[in-house]
Amino acid sequence: MEHQQNHTFSADTGKLLKLMIHSLYSNKEIFLRELVSNAADAADKLRFKALSDGALFENDADLRVRLSFDADAKTVTISDNGIGMTRDEVVEHLGTIAKSGTSDFFEQLSGDQVKDSQLIGQFGVGFYSAFIVADKVVVNTRKAGEEASTGTRWESAGEADYSVADIEKADRGTEIILHLREDESEFLNDYKLRTIVSKYSDHISIPVEMFTEEVAEVKNEEGEDTPAVPAHWEAINKATALWSCPKAELKDEEYQEFYKHIANDFENPLTWSHNKVEGEQEYTSLLYIPKRAPFDMWNREKAHGLKLYVQRVFIMDDAEQFMPTYLRFVKGILDSNDLPLNVSREILQDTRTTGKLRSACTKRVLSMLTKFAKKNDTEYNEFWKEFGQVLKEGPAEDAANKEKIAKLFRFSSTETDSAEQNVSLDAYIGRMKEEQDKIYYITADSFNAAKNSPHLEILRKKGVEVLLLSDRVDEWLLSHLPEYDGKTFTSVTQGDLDLGKLDSEEDKKEQEKQETEFASFVDRVKEVLGDKVKDVRITHRLTSTPSCIVADNDDMSTQMAKLMAQMGQ
Ligand code: ADP
Ligand code: MG
Repeated sequence: MEHQQNHTFSADTGKLLKLMIHSLYSNKEIFLRELVSNAADAADKLRFKALSDGALFENDADLRVRLSFDADAKTVTISDNGIGMTRDEVVEHLGTIAKSGTSDFFEQLSGDQVKDSQLIGQFGVGFYSAFIVADKVVVNTRKAGEEASTGTRWESAGEADYSVADIEKADRGTEIILHLREDESEFLNDYKLRTIVSKYSDHISIPVEMFTEEVAEVKNEEGEDTPAVPAHWEAINKATALWSCPKAELKDEEYQEFYKHIANDFENPLTWSHNKVEGEQEYTSLLYIPKRAPFDMWNREKAHGLKLYVQRVFIMDDAEQFMPTYLRFVKGILDSNDLPLNVSREILQDTRTTGKLRSACTKRVLSMLTKFAKKNDTEYNEFWKEFGQVLKEGPAEDAANKEKIAKLFRFSSTETDSAEQNVSLDAYIGRMKEEQDKIYYITADSFNAAKNSPHLEILRKKGVEVLLLSDRVDEWLLSHLPEYDGKTFTSVTQGDLDLGKLDSEEDKKEQEKQETEFASFVDRVKEVLGDKVKDVRITHRLTSTPSCIVADNDDMSTQMAKLMAQMGQ
């Protein structure tokens, strides 16, 4: 071995490795899923590159992963003939888990094992899961299309450091040798490995093969010869792309495992939708809603989008053109028959097909969520807690689907007076007074400020429900969503709160009487306050508070004014 170099992992990486080994230990067999998943990705990448440079196949276009073990040496080996890595890539991809956002990640750790392991799952530890079962990992790799002499060996005991060295490697691709920990011998077993592969990796797109020993010719019970089978590599998974199978043949577990493969999530998805569309457009989509928001959902630079395939060939990860930003938490694949195989991000930007697929995928997600909300009230509330804030970006970004998006919204309201946002607009409308034709809301800095606002007094007295909005985006949201189901959103803090038919004739007479009675008092208050206010009026909306500040009908609401002030406007 030449040109050997030792490197130290970043401090964060070491910490993460330790934590991961501990918290994922109860589910340690997932290491195989992760490594097989990487091999499948490497095959996908090679297949894609070979579309424009067939020589990369080096006369071996049958992509597969091979799995073997050596009981004496206590090793399990996973080897693929995918794209492989250069020395630089090895250092870049295996040298650090510290992808962007690691420090944010550490801030979120709670010390609670269950919670932390969920976070780790989202973080996508992939390759490093090898260290759950191995105390030494050796990676031999050589990039497709390069000389045999350009191979690289990476080696680490998963502690402070790793080493890289140059090696000869005749076959392209990557071989990962796991030196199992003392008590992990259960994986040195043919049956065990097969079981894990079919459990987790049945539907990755390439075969996972294990070596089968020669079977001698034998006579069966009828005395006939059954021919000998020579030793050979045998596929132990189905190796068909999951989305290309008919829905009726797929089990929930298969969908769930496939999700983990594409989404780098260790948890099951909340729900999914699998659709094959034929006709004018031909495509298959398989879209998943995760259970938990990624810790970096608010990082604008974070890649998102679907895995794009064209006629079963993997084209790219994170094709963001097919999902609007307010649905950036959706994971899944899109396999189009209409896009060209040589499609690039630039081409995607301006083909008509892209726009059509995007709008179709968007509709799928919205209707999947609508159905889910109908069927699973409590689970939907959990979804709302995780993703509601993102969904609220919807009406501004996607005016065409405003109503559908708004149907998915959940708010706090005076019906429950609870901070939990679980009132849908449809439920609100269902409870509206017969004479009511508006959706009333109040915005405030906090839920408590909204709930205790004096502006609500008269509405509470009349038994009219008011939405209590206190999320930062709410005001902005409503500026893009003036009405729902034909009913305008009306702030109860606007000057002349017109309760329309909710005020009876008697109420109105009483109000007029009060206005004349207090006219001179109002004049005095105006005099005292002078320029500080625009106007002073008798209010009929307060029942126990003597006075309150309101915005004029044409002016910004008080909440919006505060927001603008904060932004220095
Ligand atoms: P992820 O798969 O989410 O990118 P991993 O930790 O599983 O994260 O892998 C890190 C990176 O290492 C991969 O993105 C890939 O670039 C590289 N890698 C891992 N395994 C292989 C492999 N078998 N062949 C080629 N590259 C690999
Ligand atoms: Mg991976």
